[in-house]
Amino acid sequence: MVNLTCPLCTSQETGHFHRDRQRDYRRCAQCRLVFVDSSQHLSPDAEKAVYDLHQNRIDDPGYLNFLSRLALPLAGLLPPGSEGLDYGCGPGPALAGLLEGYGHRVKLYDPIYANRRELLQRQYDFVACTEVIEHFREPGAEFARLFGLIRPGGWLGIMTKLVIGADAFSRWHYKNDPTHIAFFSRPTLFWLAERYDCAIEFIGSDVIILQRNPHRRSR
Ligand SMILES: [Zn+2]
Repeated sequence: MVNLTCPLCTSQETGHFHRDRQRDYRRCAQCRLVFVDSSQHLSPDAEKAVYDLHQNRIDDPGYLNFLSRLALPLAGLLPPGSEGLDYGCGPGPALAGLLEGYGHRVKLYDPIYANRRELLQRQYDFVACTEVIEHFREPGAEFARLFGLIRPGGWLGIMTKLVIGADAFSRWHYKNDPTHIAFFSRPTLFWLAERYDCAIEFIGSDVIILQRNPHRRSR
């Protein structure tokens, strides 16, 4: 049965956004998240099989260049010797290697490849999520956990491709990856920034950095 509730903000005000040969996409009127309903998600085993096919090599110059579009601006904001978490690192520590090259320390967490739950019991100066949030089955719960991992004044660096509009969406290769089930746009990220009391900056078309308010406690 189709669940009409938005998996990010829990609004019931969601409607048809797009349909292709594989799936239906709904959009939330409140937070503007575009999402695939859980009835059309891959099973965890099928999802992992796709990830195993697309393993990024940590010494691939193109992949490192891609990650540097977040690593470079994030490293420039961080005080020397900051400690962070690569949340959803995948099978290789590529982003961690880049950030460590700037003198920061990075722990690795991934629900499939580095499932070290003990790393989720504390806070960090920064958390990085590269090509991760579009895979979130429960984005509301995931972002509550993510912002809880960041100390007041700390940073969240995100890479994900953004929804522009319905017309562009219909031709968008990004939606055709069956493991991509949550699609964010600028309005959705502004909604997140307001919800979690963060400043937000769009660094590039798919690079976003948020900073938690240094003067507020976690909600
Ligand atoms: Zn919503």
